[in-house]
Amino acid sequence: MHLDLTHLGKKVLDEKLPDITDFVRTYLGIDPSVNPVPIQPTAHYTMGGIPTDVDGRVIMDEKNTPLPGLYAAGECATVSVHGANRLGTNSLVDLVVFGRRSGKHAALYVKNTDFIPLPKKPEDGIQATISDLYSGTGTESVAKIRLELQNDMMDNASVYRNQKMLINAKNKLLELKKRYKNIALGDKSKQFNMELFEALELGFLLELASVLVESAVNRTESRGAHYREDFSKRDDTNWLKHTLAYKAGDKIDFRYKPVVITKYLPKERKY
Ligand SMILES: Cc1cc2nc3c(=O)[nH]c(=O)nc-3n(C[C@H](O)[C@H](O)[C@H](O)COP(=O)(O)OP(=O)(O)OC[C@H]3O[C@@H](n4cnc5c(N)ncnc54)[C@H](O)[C@@H]3O)c2cc1C
Repeated sequence: MHLDLTHLGKKVLDEKLPDITDFVRTYLGIDPSVNPVPIQPTAHYTMGGIPTDVDGRVIMDEKNTPLPGLYAAGECATVSVHGANRLGTNSLVDLVVFGRRSGKHAALYVKNTDFIPLPKKPEDGIQATISDLYSGTGTESVAKIRLELQNDMMDNASVYRNQKMLINAKNKLLELKKRYKNIALGDKSKQFNMELFEALELGFLLELASVLVESAVNRTESRGAHYREDFSKRDDTNWLKHTLAYKAGDKIDFRYKPVVITKYLPKERKY
């Protein structure tokens, strides 16, 4: 698929879309005022994930207990001002406002705190994971599992989903997680090993995908960017609450946190 911008002409493209046209010229060697640009779907936005309070402090539970010293702001954080879908442009506002608040709070926090005593070998856990990856002799490839994960999440866990699709995704994730235990690295070098990096990242992606899919199975309503074809209405009586996910061995435990409503009452989206 291509995007044809040629009708706009070089002057308008350079004046109004300078960044995008520059990317196209630099990375694809295409002049968008002359030739159409190849395009493909990509993720536009991740709606948070790490719950925080308004000072960017990461919180651990439904009572908003902060995890001392850990902060998050921006696209990775859920400060809970956007509802179930942030409006366009609000992510940059989010970054500026809560990035600043988090930074200020973190600066204050370090002034009044000291290093906490660490366990004897805090690096043990991650070192064991890395040496398992180096010594793996399995037959599965990281790139292949990642591609299957991407395709399956796209097909079964996008904005429009239903029970059948989500259960398919859940089963596929179980299969991929099993196969992930059977991967082998082709590159065993110890420095700048991108294959190791990608293997580690894939493990995290699989866990995150499970959180997304399983919490979507549980939420039997539609809200924001979670549209259940089999439960197309918003259900404030049962679901006006945040999902919190906890790792419990190979399983995920879910808990729920109330939504704080102040001046603006939630309303059905009519557009
Ligand atoms: C095409 C597109 C158009 C958009 N348009 C708009 C818009 O018009 N208005 C709007 O408000 N929002 C828009 N957004 C969303 C907005 O741009 C993003 O939400 C915002 O830039 C996210 O900022 P961030 O700092 O949270 O994350 P990022 O900008 O993603 O920053 C994260 C940084 O962490 C680095 N990083 C990642 N992993 C590691 C690691 N392991 N160690 C060290 N560093 C690491 C990355 O390299 C990156 O620099 C758009 C997004 C896209 C993709």
